[in-house]
Amino acid sequence: MKTEPNSERQELFFDGVGVAAGIAIGPAHVVESGALNVPEYRIQRKQVDNEIARFQAAIENSRDQIETLRSKTRKLPPAVAEELGFLLDAHMQMLAGSRLVRGVEQRIEEDRRNAEAAVQSEISQIVRGFAELDDTYMAARMQDIRDVGARIIRSLTETPYQAFKMAPSGSVIVATEITPADTALMEPGEIAGFASGMGGAEGHTAIMARSLELPAVLGIPDLTAAVESGQTVIVDGTTGRIVVNPSRETLRFYRLRRRRLARERQRLERLRALPGVTRDDARIALHANLELPREIDLAITSGAEGIGLLRTEFMFMNRDTPPDEEEQYLTLRTLVEGMNGQPVTIRTLDVGGEKLAYSLGNHISDAVNPALGLRAIRFSLRQPKLFESQVAAILRAAHHGPVRMLLPMISTVGEVQQVRTVVARVQRRLKRRGVETSNLPPIGIMIEVPGAALAADALAGVSDFFAVGTNDLIMYTLAIDRADEQVAHLYDPLHPAVLRLIQFSAQAALRARIPISVCGEMAGDPRYTALLLGLGVRELSMSSANLPRVKERVRALDLMASTRRAEMIMDQADSGRIEMLLDDFNELA
Ligand code: PEP
Ligand code: MG
Repeated sequence: MKTEPNSERQELFFDGVGVAAGIAIGPAHVVESGALNVPEYRIQRKQVDNEIARFQAAIENSRDQIETLRSKTRKLPPAVAEELGFLLDAHMQMLAGSRLVRGVEQRIEEDRRNAEAAVQSEISQIVRGFAELDDTYMAARMQDIRDVGARIIRSLTETPYQAFKMAPSGSVIVATEITPADTALMEPGEIAGFASGMGGAEGHTAIMARSLELPAVLGIPDLTAAVESGQTVIVDGTTGRIVVNPSRETLRFYRLRRRRLARERQRLERLRALPGVTRDDARIALHANLELPREIDLAITSGAEGIGLLRTEFMFMNRDTPPDEEEQYLTLRTLVEGMNGQPVTIRTLDVGGEKLAYSLGNHISDAVNPALGLRAIRFSLRQPKLFESQVAAILRAAHHGPVRMLLPMISTVGEVQQVRTVVARVQRRLKRRGVETSNLPPIGIMIEVPGAALAADALAGVSDFFAVGTNDLIMYTLAIDRADEQVAHLYDPLHPAVLRLIQFSAQAALRARIPISVCGEMAGDPRYTALLLGLGVRELSMSSANLPRVKERVRALDLMASTRRAEMIMDQADSGRIEMLLDDFNELA
């Protein structure tokens, strides 16, 4: 839709969390959501049964609504349908005799409160409990609980559900709160994008927006008060900026950016089937990092030639007990088969530090300094039963395609030897059980502890491959917590100490003739591609969304020239100068 600036109104800028890249420009459709009218009164003893029956009817009604929504999801793209399916299952579970239902009935019975008020109080109490956990994953669950509560209250008060049916074609939806279910009902052809007062990058709404490729910015609390329906709004989902009533120049700027992005997307799509090869014919393997199984589709469509890092933590999260061997095996097998003969690098559990898994709650102690505590392989070696079941699942999955086993946070040769003993024992046991396995898969290690990088030559003697985890390597080398924004300015991938450790590891791998990859965030930033290749790395693994851009960079590079530039960079002592030399090279080649 063509949109013109409104000359009488003031141009306003807001900055929030950009959760789905792209630019949307269109008239605002402001939705007054979140303001539920919750009546509150006391009931008499004789009314209790009636009130509970009213609550039960609202639960039934909510379940019917979810079923209807579920049938609608079948028409959605598969990734979105799957995401929404998980979500609706979770909502359905909350409605089925859960703590929520019991709590509400108790409040009606004991506190003699009407059903709407009982639902509201119970939801607030559950949400407060979650909030105390101070965890982003749990924050997303909090949203689910609020959504379920709002649905029950809407049923009780007979307030109809407001989707975006009234939004004119090409609108930008602006609301205090946009739930994942709301998002799933947005037709990407009809809605240009959305912006909301609440929400963060980890929530389901954000994930849905990315799957639907709808530009979205969340987390601008005062937005709805500043916008009226019909006013022109720009959503820049890449930078997280919202412009209300843009001036002519601003509109021109963003239209230009939108055209550029569309052209860039087309160009990158054409790269999908092309190999990752430099101008002087060096083959570079470009792999995907996977945090959740459903990302596999994206990995394949982005042109990944394998999974360079499968973080298995997802299997242990959001549940009360850890998965058993069979469950892990089935999940891993599906992934291995899904990659159709391309390699899958499965990393053993990397919990501890900032990564928590509630199913392991009683195993993880409250360390004084979690990042330096019982994390990753240290934890696995302390929990032989748990570790052996994961190893068994990996060995069994390896029967269905090329698998590599990757060990996180290794710091000594002894740890690798201990793991090898466990792996051999588990393999023998599987044979005795008559379970089909293949030869032992390659066992490699993460180089993410500075000491491991410095001892890379010794570790190469017991490892089949290296994977450099720059996220942790930078954190431990520079003593900067990767999750602490107060010291974020000191987190520097180009610090000479970090580069020397990568180079040292690459040289040790080369001498031992074992492959080395980089799978930290550095691998997904095209700015660092020339330097990493120049330091001797021939395999990069990254989030799928970054892969086409990195491939484009690889194909534009000359490996010999990159190596010479890396040599020049390694003579420098100052990261500012290193940055300059790298930027200079990137501009030319
Ligand atoms: C890393 O540390 O660079 C890495 C890839 O592992 P994670 O981010 O899972 O710690
Ligand atoms: Mg790591």
